[in-house]
Amino acid sequence: MDRRRFLQGASVASGVLLAQPVRVNAGSAVSGASTAPADGVLPRVCSTWDFGVAANQAAWKVLSTGGRALDAVEAGARIPEADLRNHSVGRAGYPDRDGKVTLDASIMDENGDCGAVAALEHIAHPISVARRVMERTPHVLLVGDGALQFAMEQGFPKEELLTPESREAWQAWLKTAKYKPSANSEIRDYGVGPAGSKPGDARNHDTIGMLAIDARGNLSGACTTSGMAWKLHGRVGDSPIIGAGLYVDNEVGAATSTGVGEEVIRNVGSFLVVELMRQGRSPEDACREAVERILKRKSVRGADIQVGFLAMDKRGRVGAWAIQKGFSYAVCDAGKQDALIPGKSTY
Ligand code: ASP
Repeated sequence: MDRRRFLQGASVASGVLLAQPVRVNAGSAVSGASTAPADGVLPRVCSTWDFGVAANQAAWKVLSTGGRALDAVEAGARIPEADLRNHSVGRAGYPDRDGKVTLDASIMDENGDCGAVAALEHIAHPISVARRVMERTPHVLLVGDGALQFAMEQGFPKEELLTPESREAWQAWLKTAKYKPSANSEIRDYGVGPAGSKPGDARNHDTIGMLAIDARGNLSGACTTSGMAWKLHGRVGDSPIIGAGLYVDNEVGAATSTGVGEEVIRNVGSFLVVELMRQGRSPEDACREAVERILKRKSVRGADIQVGFLAMDKRGRVGAWAIQKGFSYAVCDAGKQDALIPGKSTY
């Protein structure tokens, strides 16, 4: 089934939790809140792409009942991780060029604590393993076999994540691609999706990045992906790299990214977006500047790649910008239950 139609159905079927918006005036202190000003309607959650609609609703269940942003983003990110129809996050993610499903994820909270896993195999919920890395180890990032060993010690079941459908897509890719990875090629060209799909179009993308602010005005973020389809075994993208795929500064705001991770790592994209917001840029403007920095590099051909940034500031304002048309993000708060917003873009 087409994912967009599936999600539309799912969002209607799952229903929504209605809650009264909490309005916090600039400069006021809510009990237990951070001291930074907050004058938006809180709580609020946003996430990348159309699968963010269903993910936001899971996060909203936490936020609308007074829960912590960290719990909300973990709950939300687990939705696409478990969705068998989604080939870009978690279980059923498209594999690397050797047919192995390797997952990347990171999570960061209002205290600046963070955890991540990269190139993790056989565990369906890398976002929850990332949280355990944050909370139960002195480390930030575990990779490969070490990450798997830790996950199993923590009681996560070891599973086969490659589904028959993903295997079929990989085998179709092998026939024509000469075992050579290329960016944004998940659907394009290999007979596993509609002909003519372009980088950044609705069916050719990966990561869910999710940002939330809770009723106390505290921010958290999560980012999880199976990464670039058909990548070299061992390739790690931006999603588990704190500062690249995800960054949260509870005094300023939070940012996350999707698209060609190598470009986002090169400009430490999410950290850059947050620092630009610190200098007074709006979330949208900060995302646009980060995209433009990528496009300034001589070897980057914007028409060939997609990168999108999504940001939320300390007031709960949300903005985004992408290289290509086709990027979308979803916002959920007490007023907007499942708004899917087309992202603005440079091309
Ligand atoms: N950023 C992800 C990666 O490079 C993939 C994507 O979001 O398209 O692994």
